Amino acid sequence: MNLSLSIFHLLSALVVAYAQSGPEVASYFRKHLSNTSTIYLPLESNYSLETTQRWNAFSAPTYMISVKPTTDLDVQKIIEYAFIHNISFLGTGGGHGYSVTLDTVQNGIEIDLGHFETVSIDQNANTMTVGGAVRFANITGPLYDAGKEFQVGACSCVGILGATLGGGVGSYGGLHGLEMDALKSLRMVTGTGSLIEVSSTSHPDLWWGMRGAGFNFGIVTSATYQVYNFTHNGQAMSADFRFHASQNASLYEFARSFTGKMPDAFSIDIAIAYNESFGGTYLFANFIYVGPLEEGIALIQPLIDLEPFDQNVTMIPWKDIETSSRYGVDAVACIKGNFHSVWGLNLYQIDVPTLIAATNYMDAVYAQHVDFRFAFLAIDMYAPRVIESIPDEETAYPFRSAIARFLLDIGFSNSSRAAAASQVGRTARSIFIPTSGASTSNIEVYVNYGHGDEGPLGWYTERKLPRLNKLKNRYDPHRLFSHYNALEAD
Ligand SMILES: Cc1cc2nc3c(=O)[nH]c(=O)nc-3n(C[C@H](O)[C@H](O)[C@H](O)COP(=O)(O)OP(=O)(O)OC[C@H]3O[C@@H](n4cnc5c(N)ncnc54)[C@H](O)[C@@H]3O)c2cc1C
Repeated sequence: MNLSLSIFHLLSALVVAYAQSGPEVASYFRKHLSNTSTIYLPLESNYSLETTQRWNAFSAPTYMISVKPTTDLDVQKIIEYAFIHNISFLGTGGGHGYSVTLDTVQNGIEIDLGHFETVSIDQNANTMTVGGAVRFANITGPLYDAGKEFQVGACSCVGILGATLGGGVGSYGGLHGLEMDALKSLRMVTGTGSLIEVSSTSHPDLWWGMRGAGFNFGIVTSATYQVYNFTHNGQAMSADFRFHASQNASLYEFARSFTGKMPDAFSIDIAIAYNESFGGTYLFANFIYVGPLEEGIALIQPLIDLEPFDQNVTMIPWKDIETSSRYGVDAVACIKGNFHSVWGLNLYQIDVPTLIAATNYMDAVYAQHVDFRFAFLAIDMYAPRVIESIPDEETAYPFRSAIARFLLDIGFSNSSRAAAASQVGRTARSIFIPTSGASTSNIEVYVNYGHGDEGPLGWYTERKLPRLNKLKNRYDPHRLFSHYNALEAD
């Protein structure tokens, strides 16, 4: 059964404004959803065990109820109910979204997609179909066993769809492009309640918008991606280094030297961090090279010559890129429920003086704010050739020419420190803005790295917004999907 597009239109006359309680909503869903779906109220003892927890507890949405549907029809019914009763709702994939805009959902309905967790791989067709909540950790093993690889991000706990719908960057992006570039089709429930297939031949207008602004139009229950045969027999060099802060200029100069000539198989991650036992402020860096060890070492030889105070250069299976590289920081990146203030910016050039200024700034922050010493400021840099080989106008994603990204994560343990964390984040971002190389005065940021204060021009650009707004009017005219770095009402 499919709820037709026109039903929501008719229902809009029936929208009721009286408040519903969690138990009332639960009672309705228990009667009307499939009997394999599950429903949890926040005060129930098993709530946090059975529902997907958020990575960021700061500016988080709050819910009167969490519903875990099992069928597409369940998803349609939940959206329909929320619409009629004027209750805000949010879909949860991996729960790693951290934008401050998410707290616009208060006392809402969570559509936890946790039961949409299937992964199936077609070895001959080179495709993978995943459910809406599948995380990177769920696909790497099965793909590797099938002799296939995929572009993955920096954290195994991130939802694939959550990353894909905004773009999806990571260390195999130089070889295979953005995660969204591997998409072949989507099955989704739109903001009009319709269940549709979206691909280059089915709803091609929406297909354009889903790739770069996909959170604005509906909930994806399953997606099919292209996957790739192994590069270098599924093995890659992972090189982890720790440098003293005093060596920062050489490290940044090394990264800058790859501008315009980054090998597709190479990726660079550099982070400023703090650790008392390493002498305070230091840098850690990871380099992935998908090829023979000797070739990888030849690329990073200038850094080995700098004599980092710690190094680990090794070949690993690609399936372990997220979990083993970066000194295994993935285990920490997966921890949920802490407060984070996260800030990002696209970089179209690597400006060494700016990076040195950022290092000095973070050094001062660590000295001044002892409780921000878990904060890290990172730069990631992936070869842009394959990403740029797809014309800009083919997708809503607007930042194919960005060569790197700045990302600052300030973890803090007490909400009274939120304002201070914001101050640090805003100042750090302002250090990067003048030399980012952006061609506009908007704060341009890959939507999934956005703090949440940049606005639609910053996430989607003036160039793409008119077409995106038209799609919004067509596929989510009631602005139900408006809580994550969203397009604004016309
Ligand atoms: C530690 C960490 C590491 C990261 N590393 C990377 C990285 O290497 N590369 C990168 O590109 N990004 C990275 N990100 C950013 C990440 O892509 C975004 O935070 C993304 O939104 C997370 O998706 P999620 O499903 O885990 O989160 P959620 O909070 O569940 O979802 C985020 C948004 O996407 C929507 N959404 C999720 N699933 C669906 C679906 N099936 N259908 C429709 N909407 C959906 C949600 O409704 C919400 O609006 C990282 C984030 C963190 C916290």
